[in-house]
Amino acid sequence: MLSSLRMDSMDSLTAGTALILVQCCVALVMIGFHFAAPDEKCTRDWALSASCIALGVFAAIVSHRTSHPFLLLAGGCVIMVGMAYQWQGILAFYGRPPRQAGWIICLLFTALLAAMLLLELPARQRTLLFSGTLILLLALSLQAIWQGQGMPRTFVQVLVPAAIVLLLSSHLLKLAIAIMQFHDAVPAQRTPLDITAAYLMPIVGTVLFSIGLPLLYFERLVETNRHLATHDELSKLLNRRAICAAGERELELAQRLHRPLSIAFIDIDLFKHFNDEFGHAAGDAVIAEVSAILQRTCRTIDLVGRYGGEEFLIVLPGADAGDAIDIGRRLVETVRDYRYRGRHPVTISTGLATLAADISSWPQLLARADAMLYEAKRQGRNRYCA
Ligand code: GH3
Ligand code: MG
Ligand code: MG
Repeated sequence: MLSSLRMDSMDSLTAGTALILVQCCVALVMIGFHFAAPDEKCTRDWALSASCIALGVFAAIVSHRTSHPFLLLAGGCVIMVGMAYQWQGILAFYGRPPRQAGWIICLLFTALLAAMLLLELPARQRTLLFSGTLILLLALSLQAIWQGQGMPRTFVQVLVPAAIVLLLSSHLLKLAIAIMQFHDAVPAQRTPLDITAAYLMPIVGTVLFSIGLPLLYFERLVETNRHLATHDELSKLLNRRAICAAGERELELAQRLHRPLSIAFIDIDLFKHFNDEFGHAAGDAVIAEVSAILQRTCRTIDLVGRYGGEEFLIVLPGADAGDAIDIGRRLVETVRDYRYRGRHPVTISTGLATLAADISSWPQLLARADAMLYEAKRQGRNRYCA
């Protein structure tokens, strides 16, 4: 297919215009994101990055047409600043501190390019410098993404690094061509390999990266909102809506598959007194610490939620009445050993209920556990009842 490409089918003007349009789209999207959430540094950096790259490519095209060395210098420098902003944006996205190395690379690049233009070195040397610097900045972006996300788990987490790898490959190819002195050829004599490295790969890579970046941001926005909607801030556990939804789902599964299911309803004992004695902030700290203990003490398949105030609900899939008693005992004993600030004991009461022939709905199971909790309180607290 490549060999059927006409040599004049793509030139630097066509490719440059495509790159400018894509970068302008990214800049607009990122500016929109940034106005929606002005304290986000990454969208600001990515908007600046895309604007700089668009401007730099424009200057490079004009310099190519007019052979104006200052425009070439300015264009190259602005493109590198855009690439450095891209890296900074990725660092900010993953909550990492900004790095100065990007700006130092830009400065060195500008100084070297200026020297090359003054010495009137051949275009091949400039290609070496340009591709080498781009490879360095792209590699830094790729490393930041790798450190931030680890092994890709979603479509977008594959798309963005793949786009960078494609861009990296195009510049490596360009570098190789320049080293082998192919690149001194005038545009009319360019080979399909040349066109692929110089135009096709950068355009495809840039388009994929430009689609991936907003998607990456959007994916995390959705993930953050989902977490906020289902989790409680103080305890870091599932909130009441989420734990009840999970419980209803588990009940349906248990009934369909004829598997056991139990739940534990937990309430911190005499918590009003605790608040009165140590203050509300201390009470909050105890809720957070007891929550962590409950989560640690349960099995990994159990679902732990904060039902309200100092009440917790734990769904125990696959646990029959015997298992539920074991878990209930373990929970009560573990909290009994806990001391607030190493001194003040805190205890819980636990009501356990297991799916049985006379319980067919979630409200019934919940009411049974609540009744058992009431019974544990009546018997003197700091215990479980099943
Ligand atoms: P009991 O052993 O019978 O459960 O006694 P109790 O004092 O714990 O009684 P109850 O469960 O009715 O009281 C709950 C208290 O928990 C009331 C409220 O002051 C406190 N509380 C509820 N939510 C929070 C919270 O988010 N933070 C703090 N610090 N206290 C809370
Ligand atoms: Mg209570
Ligand atoms: Mg209580």
